[in-house]
Amino acid sequence: MAVERTLAILKPDCVRKELVGEVLSRIQDAGFQLRALKMITMSKAEAEGFYSVHEDKPFFDDLTDFMSSGPCIPVVLEKENAIEDFRALIGATDPEEATDGTIRSDFAGSIEQNIVHGSDSPENGKKETAYFFAEHEIVANKSSME
Ligand code: ATP
Ligand code: MG
Repeated sequence: MAVERTLAILKPDCVRKELVGEVLSRIQDAGFQLRALKMITMSKAEAEGFYSVHEDKPFFDDLTDFMSSGPCIPVVLEKENAIEDFRALIGATDPEEATDGTIRSDFAGSIEQNIVHGSDSPENGKKETAYFFAEHEIVANKSSME
């Protein structure tokens, strides 16, 4: 299986609820390597740019208000099959539908404030990584990617 990168965001609710350590532990325990991480507060425009694929959805304005409401933590993760495995670790978008034991099932308060983002394809993983990190900010790993 190929080593992949995915872009996660610990969303503003994760930071606000002081779940950063717990969520990062779960991510590391599941075998993901941290390659880059920082805390930022997105402007409304940055949140709109990040979620532009959803710009026609009824929840777009609320979602981008939420995503720009406080600090969040974009993280570059690396693992074999990272995209799919990370989506499995976080669970379905709506915590009511998320499998027991997933991060969203255990911690998310609502479909909107659902603790964590994960890229949905390798192509989007690359785009989303570049949205937050310059290549030189991502820690290289000899065994990966090349
Ligand atoms: P993400 O892209 O954040 O990892 P996802 O891929 O599970 O989540 P998407 O369909 O891409 O889900 O939706 C992006 C985000 O928009 C969701 O994580 C959630 O915060 C919000 N969202 C999605 N659907 C709804 C909805 N029906 N009502 C309110 N917010 C929603
Ligand atoms: Mg998505």
